[in-house]
Amino acid sequence: MKKKLLTAAVTGALFTFGSFYAGTGTILAGDNGPNGPNYNGNETIKNERLHSYEEMVSDLEKLDQRSEALQLEVYGESVKKRDLYLAKFGMNEDNPTILFLTQQHGNETLTTEGALEVIKYLSSNGKNVKEILENVNVLIAPRLNVDGAEGDVNFSLEDYVSGTHTRYNANEVDLNRDHVDRNQPETKALHENVLQKYQPDYMIDLHHQGTQTTLGDTGELVSGSILYPTNDEVDSVVREQSKKLGAVVYNAVESKGYGLLSKYPGGSAQTISRNGLAAEYGISTLLLEMRGMADHYREDYVLGQKSNGYLIQQAVTAMKASLNALADGSIESADTSFWDTLPESNYDGE
Ligand SMILES: [Zn+2]
Repeated sequence: MKKKLLTAAVTGALFTFGSFYAGTGTILAGDNGPNGPNYNGNETIKNERLHSYEEMVSDLEKLDQRSEALQLEVYGESVKKRDLYLAKFGMNEDNPTILFLTQQHGNETLTTEGALEVIKYLSSNGKNVKEILENVNVLIAPRLNVDGAEGDVNFSLEDYVSGTHTRYNANEVDLNRDHVDRNQPETKALHENVLQKYQPDYMIDLHHQGTQTTLGDTGELVSGSILYPTNDEVDSVVREQSKKLGAVVYNAVESKGYGLLSKYPGGSAQTISRNGLAAEYGISTLLLEMRGMADHYREDYVLGQKSNGYLIQQAVTAMKASLNALADGSIESADTSFWDTLPESNYDGE
């Protein structure tokens, strides 16, 4: 049965989360029309609706003042001297620890919007939140590439479609190829002051991919893609836990009307965090790629804001499902057999 990527029910839900962050504008679902959003992917790009760096920091600080559960920490700074923030919840050494990392690539914006939603959720006092935080330590590092996300870089943005966000950091380095050398201040700080200090057991690394990725050769556009660590150095037990985390995310996302995930055809280089963190620290990692990007030099990679709502919710759904599965232990019984038949991503444009 073919799935529609966006259903009417989801469209309705989009309007419930737009105004959490005072003064930062509302993320609108836009006019999705009777047949869902236009997937040509080149709707007007209005990136100012996303959180700027200053708005993100302001929101984090406000939440930190309001919430007893949240501990906000500056763990380093970027090339351009912007502080890097870590949101910490619960540090009980008997509990498993999970890290959500977003926006290693500055043009992959909605992952951070999702992370801010989850930080806000965990800063609230709901019953479900209590259950999570009694059983799981949560680390959220939103927007590693804070300079690229501002377009504040030492190279030309001429080739980019909207000229506002770059994949690379200010030194034109791909941070997600810097997890062995750690030559850049952002990756160095992440390793020394988050990974080595807090030793997470799990990590979800959130990214975006091109808009035209399909589920195998079915021609169906996916809402996202997932992959576990594929490097030979990774311990098989660590990889199996990654596959279980992937199963939790897969089941949660696929249960949504918009959800359709493929297996990301990722490489095995240890410079990539999905592989490197699993190999070096034994962290069970999962890559989650969202559809489309805020900006890119390839026009067909750029997705307009009409799709922002469901993609942010996909990130939120994945993170919350992971927290619940760790909190109640159900991750241990997650069925990983779907990985054997999950079609790989396919991209016609290349
Ligand atoms: Zn990326």
